[in-house]
Formats: sequence, C-alpha cells, structure tokens
Amino acid sequence: MTEPILSVRNLTATFGQGASALRAVNEVSFDVMPGEVLGLVGESGSGKSVTLRSLLRLLPVGGHVGGSVSWHGKDIVRMTDAELRAVRGGQISMIFQEPMTALNPVLPVRVQIEENLRAHTQLDRKGRNARAKELMDLVGIPDSARRLDEFPHQFSGGMRQRVMIAIALASDPKLLLADEPTTALDVTIQDQILNLILDLRDELAMSVVLVTHDLGVVAATCDRMAVMYAGRIVEEGDVTQVFAQPRHAYTRGLLGSIPQAGTERSMLLSIDGTPPGLAAIPQGCAFNPRCDFATDICRRTRPHLTGDGHRAACHNSDAVIAAGSPVKKALSHV
Ligand code: ADP
Ligand code: MG
Repeated sequence: MTEPILSVRNLTATFGQGASALRAVNEVSFDVMPGEVLGLVGESGSGKSVTLRSLLRLLPVGGHVGGSVSWHGKDIVRMTDAELRAVRGGQISMIFQEPMTALNPVLPVRVQIEENLRAHTQLDRKGRNARAKELMDLVGIPDSARRLDEFPHQFSGGMRQRVMIAIALASDPKLLLADEPTTALDVTIQDQILNLILDLRDELAMSVVLVTHDLGVVAATCDRMAVMYAGRIVEEGDVTQVFAQPRHAYTRGLLGSIPQAGTERSMLLSIDGTPPGLAAIPQGCAFNPRCDFATDICRRTRPHLTGDGHRAACHNSDAVIAAGSPVKKALSHV
C-alpha cells in the first residue's frame, strides 16, 4: 500500500470568535497520494480557497485552523514557525489565480525566483543564476536569459502564470497547491498551463491539489476529485467513477452543467438557487433547499460521508445513482 504524502483530518477554518464566529471549512478530510492530481471543486464560496490556505496556515488575521494536516509524519497545524517556514513555499508551494497580485511589480522576475532559491536551496550566487534560467526554460518561457531581467508587467497573462510556476518550483516542492491557476486566462492558454502542470508533475514527481470551479478542467487533468459544498466535502472519488456515477445530488447537478457538445467550457450556473451564506447554512444537508432528491431526513439530519474509495454524504444516494450520470460521453483530455 502506498502511503499518502498529505493526510488532512477534520480540517476546520473559523473566522472570528464566539457566537459570531463563521466556519468556512468544516470537518474536511482527504489524502493526497504521491504523484497524483487531486481536484477540489465547487461553486464560488464553497470553501476551496480557504481549505487550500488552511493547509499551510495562510489564513488572514482572525482566521483559525483546527484539525490536523499530516506531512511526513508532522502535523502542519501544530508546527513551530521555524518548522512551518521550511514547509511553506519549500516542500509545499502554492500558486494563485491572479499572478499580478502574487508577483512583486517592482522586482525583475530573476530576483523573485532567486529569492526563493536562496531561501530553500544551498546554491551559491552562480548556481542560483543558472537555476533561475533553467526554471524559466522548464516552464516554457522563450528567450529566458533576457526575460529574467524583465518586470512582471512586461509578461502576458499566460507567461506571468508560467513565471509564478517557476517561482513555485524553485524550492523543488513535493506538493503544488494551485488555486484556480488558469481561471483568468483564455481557453487556449489555459490548456497550455494545465498541460505544463501535468508535465511538471510527471517530470518532478510532484503531487498537485488543483482548485477549480470548472469540471471540464477536472476531467482533463485530475486523477481524483473532491466536491465541496458549504465548507464540507460532499463527494470524493476517482474522476472517472464520479463522472460515470455521481452519488451526491449536488455533484450530479454540477455534472449536468458541463457543456456536452465540443470542448467548450462555461461557468457552473445551471443548478437552481445559490449556495448558502456561512451565517445561514441550512439544517440537515446544506444542499437540501436546492435539491430535487431531498426528503424529510435531508431537512433534519446531516448526512455523513460514507463509502470506500468513492465517498458521498447524501441520504438519497441510491436515488441519485438510479437517476444516472448526466455526462453522456467521456470528456476529452486537454
Ligand atoms: P471558494 O474558494 O470556494 O470560492 P472561499 O474558500 O474563498 O471560497 O470562501 C469560503 C467562505 O469563507 C466564503 O463564504 C467566504 O465569504 C468566507 N471567507 C473567506 N475569507 C474570509 C475572511 N477573511 N473572513 C471571513 N470570511 C471569509
Ligand atoms: Mg477561491
């Protein structure tokens, strides 16, 4: 049995204190296996970004992380600041949706890559210089020697995202956390960046957690997927299993909103209603007010995630399974 490289158990993220505290992530548990791409999917506000940030304790002031995040036998939630510095941006790297906000606009990209090399490798000045160029080549930026001395605004959106990835790879991470890394890009560039991430995963033997609201992206790039709703995982399994036989009504709804003809992608808009706010999460199953399968028990009792390998938190899984998957043909790979 292969061991997971990351084990998340009962992860919670709370903002504020006392009676007004809001729980954005609730009892989330999942594993990441070596070399796999795990997709974290759900509508806007479902808790994907907060989950990802909580793994590295990167919440804004007022945010509190609970539960455990086991990384090479140590719990990140309980690490000292010194231990955390070695993991954060080192063994585990993170890339964000909008590179312009994560890059420093007044520093050439060389400085930003070399800063990371200085923090996380033993390379001397000359070694860092050479490695910075190698990393630019690795992420497919042409004319890398010259472009290293340019500033972020001189790069196109796609090239900026490549720079972000080069910075993230400088520390030779074993796990890459990618938060909607292609959402701001047009479809062609999006496919190029996703392919790059997959190639790097193979070449560098990394694992990837990929946050996206786009199930087309999940189909094209992920091995396993976890679906989030109102701060909880409601379904988890191999991408092929979940697409072929969704067990949660919410997942089924999401799958029904993927464009079926051609490879066109769109936002997930077709489930009636909107996700609940954190201050007003419905009793029972949080999805019940929007659910076509809901029965009395769904309004009273919150369902637990059950199953082996393919898990779902739905009282009416059998009915959802009987209704069948709305995905009629296998989705194409990027
Ligand atoms: P997603 O990435 O799935 O779109 P997020 O993880 O960003 O969603 O947000 C999940 C929930 O947490 C949202 O309801 C959001 O309003 C809330 N939230 C995020 N950051 C904060 C914060 N700093 N303070 C209070 N609530 C927050
Ligand atoms: Mg987000």
